[in-house]
Amino acid sequence: MTTDSSLPAALYVVATPIGHLDDITRRAAQILTEVDVCCCEDTRHSKRLLEHLGARPKLVSVHEHNERERIDFILSLLEQGQRVALISDAGTPLISDPGFPLVRAVTQAGFDVRPVPGVSAVTAALSVAGLPTDRWVFEGFLPAKTGQRQQRLQQLVNETRTLVLYESSHRIERCLDDLVDVMGADRPLVLARELTKQFETVLRGTAAEVRELVAQDADQRKGEFVLMIGGANSADQPSQTQLDGDQLMAVLAPLMPPKQAAATLVELIGGRKKDWYERIVALGGSSADR
Ligand code: SAM
Repeated sequence: MTTDSSLPAALYVVATPIGHLDDITRRAAQILTEVDVCCCEDTRHSKRLLEHLGARPKLVSVHEHNERERIDFILSLLEQGQRVALISDAGTPLISDPGFPLVRAVTQAGFDVRPVPGVSAVTAALSVAGLPTDRWVFEGFLPAKTGQRQQRLQQLVNETRTLVLYESSHRIERCLDDLVDVMGADRPLVLARELTKQFETVLRGTAAEVRELVAQDADQRKGEFVLMIGGANSADQPSQTQLDGDQLMAVLAPLMPPKQAAATLVELIGGRKKDWYERIVALGGSSADR
């Protein structure tokens, strides 16, 4: 394991906990004690974490309202050879958090940007959802206005990958209403709340079931949320069903006569026996033709 005892000048993008204070890596803690300057969204909030770690860097506030104005100053620090950390209030900076203009400017100016990875609510939530995680899309926060939110969901209704959203307690109920209306009551939904904190809860069910649980229990509307929506599945997607049928047909055709393969496909996939038969024959026949 390498240590960072003589930390080189760079911008270190450091992940911090999303709840449980022990969820910080040893490397992140070490770097935060060694940097000269730490850019934080809210200096008072981050001071608590830094004190907990025994770190005393100079604090500079970098939040969504001033981050562009701070860029020249931070570039000048890097120019002087200072070690600068970027943290956000929670989790990984730039993930629905400030930092993108700064990171871009620092890379464009030719200085080093180094990741110090750790927690993010998106990966923590996906790791326990029980939904497919081989392919997923992160949409961050949906628009605050109902019309725009519904429109965004409408654009995502046919997305087959697991969809991940962030939501706050202010809008969780309205967001769930829109999800049921636009995505459908039966869409699989997982709602992860207050991860790694005292009242951590993960609700799983259909969109309508999860909405109902949240509507009935005011406690379930408190805190911070990650919403994960099962992708538009094969039952909703004729093309996906067709693809599975094609794969199965390619497997069955060499193994049995066309009539039998067609009958098996009707049983497993549905459709008309005659159509399957013609497609098998077009594919080059089956074992019985050879
Ligand atoms: N940068 C952070 C990250 O890496 O996850 C996200 C910051 S974003 C401003 C805050 C949102 O993240 C919250 O509104 C919520 O959707 C999600 N979030 C953060 N902490 C969470 C937690 N402990 N449990 C569930 N969701 C959380």
